[in-house]
Amino acid sequence: MKRVLIIIAFFTFLMSCSESNSSSTNTPDNNGNNNPTTKLRVLTGDSVHLSLGVPRDADLSNDFEQIRHQYAFSYNSAKGVPNWVAWELSKDWYGDVARYDGNFVTDITLPGDIVKITHADYTNSGYDRGHLVRSEERTDNEADNKATFYLTNIIPQTPDLNRGVWLDLEYYCEKLCKEDNKRLFVVAGPIIHTNKTLKDEGRVAIPDSCFKIIVVMNYTDNINAINDNTVIYSVIMPNIAGVRSDDWTKYKTTVDQVEKSTGYDFLNMLPVALQAKIESRKN
Ligand code: MN
Ligand code: MN
Repeated sequence: MKRVLIIIAFFTFLMSCSESNSSSTNTPDNNGNNNPTTKLRVLTGDSVHLSLGVPRDADLSNDFEQIRHQYAFSYNSAKGVPNWVAWELSKDWYGDVARYDGNFVTDITLPGDIVKITHADYTNSGYDRGHLVRSEERTDNEADNKATFYLTNIIPQTPDLNRGVWLDLEYYCEKLCKEDNKRLFVVAGPIIHTNKTLKDEGRVAIPDSCFKIIVVMNYTDNINAINDNTVIYSVIMPNIAGVRSDDWTKYKTTVDQVEKSTGYDFLNMLPVALQAKIESRKN
């Protein structure tokens, strides 16, 4: 029962005076279709991928959170990209399934009123469709691999980033899992402070930079094993040309810095004192 995933998604209705023009007698619509209030969907279920918490910022109006078997994510429909994707990684997730070779997949599991990005939104933009959960990290079976091609797991990355230094860090994670028998908890996403969009179409925001946080545990550890000495790698990499040959360690930072840059609180299931210690440390 290692990868048990209970998909329990509730639609939570936040009635704000400025946004709500409907009465307060709304009842949850579990299909979520054509209901403007479903833009806020807050996770309440259990998922191994969220063992260290659900990253949250101060404004949940553009956080559509969802759990799938392969990862959990928060999607931002105003920006057409995930705010973050979180996933567990160990040798168990790697296999030898061939890479899915179709187009990237529009995420039709999003409710009807949420903007959905398509493969074509990226075509001829000059940017790669950059996986957050790497395709190779879900190769135990075909369904797992195809799930990484949902566009809710994808952000625009320059070819130099995606195929260079970002990939190098992905190789390092693979080594940690396969050779060092580690279990990782990873969360990654875009950092966006400008208004650039792919092909100036206003649909997919181009990140200024991309972050990744990697909590390194032993394969057999559970969450209680996290302590002051637990290794955490955090990086912020610029989404620009010219970084292909850089060493990923050049972009090491702290969780604190990622939190400052994104506005999200990460690792928020851990005791506050422990967060304070490990989030301010550069490994
Ligand atoms: Mn990639
Ligand atoms: Mn935190």
